[in-house]
Amino acid sequence: MTTQTNRVISFHYTLTDPSGETLDSSRDHGPLTFLEGVGQIIPGLESELKTLKLGDKKVVKIAAKNAYGERQNDLVINVKRSQLPKADVKVGDQFQTQEQHSPAFTIVEVGTESVTLDGNHPLAGIDLTFDVEVTEVRDATAEELSHGHSHGPDGHHHH
Ligand code: ZN
Repeated sequence: MTTQTNRVISFHYTLTDPSGETLDSSRDHGPLTFLEGVGQIIPGLESELKTLKLGDKKVVKIAAKNAYGERQNDLVINVKRSQLPKADVKVGDQFQTQEQHSPAFTIVEVGTESVTLDGNHPLAGIDLTFDVEVTEVRDATAEELSHGHSHGPDGHHHH
Protein backbone atom coordinates (compact mmCIF):
# COMPACT_ATOMS: atom_id res chain seq x y z
CA MET A 1 0.00 0.00 0.00
CA THR A 2 1.21 3.47 -0.82
CA THR A 3 -0.17 6.56 0.82
CA GLN A 4 -1.20 8.94 -1.90
CA THR A 5 -0.41 12.23 -0.25
CA ASN A 6 2.16 13.28 -2.81
CA ARG A 7 2.28 16.91 -3.83
CA VAL A 8 3.55 18.60 -6.97
CA ILE A 9 6.15 21.28 -6.27
CA SER A 10 7.48 23.87 -8.72
CA PHE A 11 10.62 25.84 -8.02
CA HIS A 12 13.15 28.15 -9.58
CA TYR A 13 16.78 27.24 -9.10
CA THR A 14 20.22 28.52 -9.91
CA LEU A 15 22.83 25.78 -9.82
CA THR A 16 26.43 26.69 -9.08
CA ASP A 17 29.60 24.65 -8.61
CA PRO A 18 32.07 25.14 -5.71
CA SER A 19 33.90 27.90 -7.62
CA GLY A 20 30.64 29.84 -7.88
CA GLU A 21 30.21 29.31 -11.60
CA THR A 22 26.57 29.02 -12.70
CA LEU A 23 25.99 25.62 -14.34
CA ASP A 24 22.27 25.94 -14.99
CA SER A 25 19.38 28.19 -14.05
CA SER A 26 15.63 27.77 -14.37
CA ARG A 27 15.41 31.54 -14.78
CA ASP A 28 16.28 30.88 -18.43
CA HIS A 29 13.55 28.33 -19.11
CA GLY A 30 10.90 28.42 -16.38
CA PRO A 31 10.49 26.66 -13.03
CA LEU A 32 11.12 22.94 -12.65
CA THR A 33 8.08 20.91 -11.57
CA PHE A 34 8.25 17.53 -9.87
CA LEU A 35 6.02 14.96 -8.20
CA GLU A 36 7.12 14.06 -4.68
CA GLY A 37 8.37 10.62 -3.87
CA VAL A 38 9.09 9.21 -7.33
CA GLY A 39 12.69 10.29 -7.88
CA GLN A 40 12.06 12.97 -10.52
CA ILE A 41 14.83 15.11 -9.01
CA ILE A 42 17.94 14.22 -7.01
CA PRO A 43 17.00 12.97 -3.51
CA GLY A 44 19.11 15.49 -1.60
CA LEU A 45 17.30 18.37 -3.26
CA GLU A 46 13.84 16.84 -2.95
CA SER A 47 14.22 16.28 0.80
CA GLU A 48 15.05 19.97 1.29
CA LEU A 49 12.26 21.24 -0.97
CA LYS A 50 9.70 19.16 0.91
CA THR A 51 10.36 21.25 4.01
CA LEU A 52 9.70 24.57 2.22
CA LYS A 53 6.49 26.52 1.72
CA LEU A 54 5.25 28.53 -1.25
CA GLY A 55 7.50 31.56 -1.75
CA ASP A 56 10.30 30.22 0.44
CA LYS A 57 13.86 30.72 -0.74
CA LYS A 58 16.80 28.65 0.40
CA VAL A 59 20.38 27.86 -0.55
CA VAL A 60 20.77 24.08 -0.60
CA LYS A 61 24.24 22.55 -0.71
CA ILE A 62 24.42 18.93 -1.84
CA ALA A 63 27.59 16.86 -1.75
CA ALA A 64 28.44 15.08 -5.00
CA LYS A 65 27.70 11.66 -3.53
CA ASN A 66 24.12 12.76 -2.80
CA ALA A 67 23.72 14.46 -6.17
CA TYR A 68 25.08 12.81 -9.32
CA GLY A 69 27.55 10.57 -7.49
CA GLU A 70 31.31 10.46 -7.28
CA ARG A 71 33.25 10.08 -10.49
CA GLN A 72 33.94 6.45 -11.38
CA ASN A 73 37.33 5.84 -12.98
CA ASP A 74 36.15 2.63 -14.63
CA LEU A 75 33.71 4.68 -16.73
CA VAL A 76 36.67 6.31 -18.46
CA ILE A 77 37.60 3.95 -21.29
CA ASN A 78 39.84 3.78 -24.33
CA VAL A 79 38.45 2.46 -27.59
CA LYS A 80 39.84 2.18 -31.09
CA ARG A 81 38.60 4.86 -33.44
CA SER A 82 37.29 2.10 -35.73
CA GLN A 83 34.83 1.08 -32.99
CA LEU A 84 33.08 4.44 -33.07
CA PRO A 85 29.93 4.94 -35.14
CA LYS A 86 31.63 7.62 -37.23
CA ALA A 87 35.19 8.43 -38.18
CA ASP A 88 35.12 12.20 -37.79
CA VAL A 89 34.98 12.83 -34.04
CA LYS A 90 36.12 15.57 -31.69
CA VAL A 91 36.38 16.24 -27.99
CA GLY A 92 32.91 16.86 -26.56
CA ASP A 93 31.02 14.52 -28.92
CA GLN A 94 28.63 12.16 -27.14
CA PHE A 95 27.71 8.56 -27.89
CA GLN A 96 25.08 6.23 -26.47
CA THR A 97 26.19 2.64 -26.10
CA GLN A 98 23.87 -0.06 -27.33
CA GLU A 99 22.43 -1.08 -23.99
CA GLN A 100 19.35 0.92 -23.10
CA HIS A 101 19.59 3.24 -20.11
CA SER A 102 23.36 3.07 -20.21
CA PRO A 103 25.10 6.39 -19.65
CA ALA A 104 26.06 8.58 -22.58
CA PHE A 105 29.80 8.63 -23.17
CA THR A 106 31.57 11.89 -23.93
CA ILE A 107 34.81 11.99 -25.88
CA VAL A 108 37.47 13.58 -23.70
CA GLU A 109 40.58 12.86 -25.77
CA VAL A 110 41.19 12.00 -29.42
CA GLY A 111 44.36 10.19 -30.47
CA THR A 112 45.45 8.95 -33.88
CA GLU A 113 44.47 5.31 -33.20
CA SER A 114 42.14 5.52 -30.22
CA VAL A 115 39.87 7.87 -28.32
CA THR A 116 39.15 8.24 -24.60
CA LEU A 117 35.48 8.19 -23.58
CA ASP A 118 34.06 9.29 -20.24
CA GLY A 119 30.73 7.75 -19.15
CA ASN A 120 30.41 9.79 -15.96
CA HIS A 121 27.51 12.21 -15.66
CA PRO A 122 28.81 15.73 -16.42
CA LEU A 123 27.93 16.73 -12.84
CA ALA A 124 29.44 13.63 -11.19
CA GLY A 125 32.03 14.46 -8.55
CA ILE A 126 30.87 18.06 -8.20
CA ASP A 127 29.44 19.42 -4.96
CA LEU A 128 26.36 21.37 -6.03
CA THR A 129 24.73 24.49 -4.65
CA PHE A 130 21.09 25.12 -5.54
CA ASP A 131 19.64 28.56 -4.83
CA VAL A 132 15.92 27.71 -4.88
CA GLU A 133 12.61 29.54 -4.68
CA VAL A 134 9.34 27.60 -4.38
CA THR A 135 6.86 28.98 -6.95
CA GLU A 136 3.95 26.52 -6.62
CA VAL A 137 2.79 23.77 -4.27
CA ARG A 138 -0.36 21.78 -5.01
CA ASP A 139 -1.79 18.31 -4.56
CA ALA A 140 -0.96 15.91 -7.37
CA THR A 141 -3.85 15.02 -9.66
CA ALA A 142 -5.06 11.41 -9.89
CA GLU A 143 -3.65 11.32 -13.41
CA GLU A 144 -0.22 12.47 -12.28
CA LEU A 145 -0.20 9.85 -9.51
CA SER A 146 -1.12 7.09 -11.96
CA HIS A 147 1.53 8.25 -14.43
CA GLY A 148 4.15 8.61 -11.72
CA HIS A 149 5.31 12.08 -12.76
CA SER A 150 4.19 15.68 -12.69
CA HIS A 151 2.42 17.39 -15.57
CA GLY A 152 2.32 21.10 -16.37
CA PRO A 153 1.53 23.87 -13.91
CA ASP A 154 -2.22 23.18 -14.13
CA GLY A 155 -1.85 19.38 -14.01
CA HIS A 156 -3.44 18.98 -17.43
CA HIS A 157 -0.43 18.66 -19.67
CA HIS A 158 -1.12 16.19 -22.48
CA HIS A 159 1.62 13.97 -23.72
ZN1 ZN B 1 1.80 11.74 -17.58
